[in-house]
Amino acid sequence: MADTLTPRDRSARMARVRHKDTKPEMLIRRGLHARGFRFRLHRKDLPGKPDLTLARYQAVIEVRGCFWHGHEGCGRRPKSREAFWNEKIDGNRARNARNEEQLLAMGWRVLVIWECAMVGPGRLSADELLDRAAAWLEGHANQGVIAGTPPA
Ligand SMILES: [Zn+2]
Repeated sequence: MADTLTPRDRSARMARVRHKDTKPEMLIRRGLHARGFRFRLHRKDLPGKPDLTLARYQAVIEVRGCFWHGHEGCGRRPKSREAFWNEKIDGNRARNARNEEQLLAMGWRVLVIWECAMVGPGRLSADELLDRAAAWLEGHANQGVIAGTPPA
């Protein structure tokens, strides 16, 4: 197949793909699917296009990178060009909070799974992670958070 993309187009496309189908998100998707949960991805009619929407459980799941979304007490903040990155990260946090508020107001339940639950020294085993997500889905809490063990 002829490759008609310029290197610049290609890297833009790759960046988009990586953004949408990150490895941690794939782990959640595959694991939940294997356990019989059915969901839709990035529903455009919901605030913030949540990563997963499980209508049957009136629930959405957001998988968040700790750096970009400024996970408190975990997300490493950048050391160089600090002001620039912090502004971006704070913007993401504000947007997340707004979307979450809207989803809750619309009657959706919101589970946030942080990347550190899946990647890095404090991560959970895949089974534990999926057990927790499944338990939350089958429970009645409006909000839930799954994260890795923070560094001591
Ligand atoms: Zn984290």
